[in-house]
Amino acid sequence: MQTLVADHPLVAHKLTTLRDISTPTPEFRRLADELVTLLAYEATRHLPVESVDIVTPVSPAQGVKLSGPAPLVVPVLRAGIGMLDGMLRLLPGAAVGFMGLARDEETLVASAYAVRLPTDLSGREVIVLDPMLATGGTLETVITTLIGYGAAGITAVCLLAAPEGLERVAAAFPENECPVPIRVVTAAIDARLNEVGYIVPGLGDAGDRLFGAL
Ligand code: URA
Repeated sequence: MQTLVADHPLVAHKLTTLRDISTPTPEFRRLADELVTLLAYEATRHLPVESVDIVTPVSPAQGVKLSGPAPLVVPVLRAGIGMLDGMLRLLPGAAVGFMGLARDEETLVASAYAVRLPTDLSGREVIVLDPMLATGGTLETVITTLIGYGAAGITAVCLLAAPEGLERVAAAFPENECPVPIRVVTAAIDARLNEVGYIVPGLGDAGDRLFGAL
């Protein structure tokens, strides 16, 4: 698994305000949206391109365009929905699928209660949106599902990641055994998880802060 931390003053600046408990929901939503667009730049770096011939107002020229099939963007319900616009701003031609997961509080295993994906993802790059990579249980289930549907490569965009979650996902999909490349793009790797699975220092419950349910 490849992990990329977007090291940029704008990312760090916006993330600091996002973390702040005094940042109200409308500003949190706007900053999350902007941050995702900045992360989207890194998350799409590997997308395949093909050459095209065009004509500028001055002369014929050769350029590039993204090759098909269009990437699939998959927000994980519910908080991933708050990241969708920020990603589609850079990838307006992407298709969108959805996954919703719930954790069994006894086994702690995340299982999908909603999967809306094209039946065949062969040859298709998938970008997963989930703001908080905490224990990694949700992302492990999402990636397993997407591999089962035939995804060609999977990139998770997370506002924040915990070392525990990154380690779990890396261990679940070892590079020499995993059939497709797995990438995680995040604005920061925080210190740890607390006893109730929150990222420390983190930003609290991303869904509550995005949707105003505090
Ligand atoms: N989910 C959140 O919303 N926040 C955390 O810190 C961990 C998981």
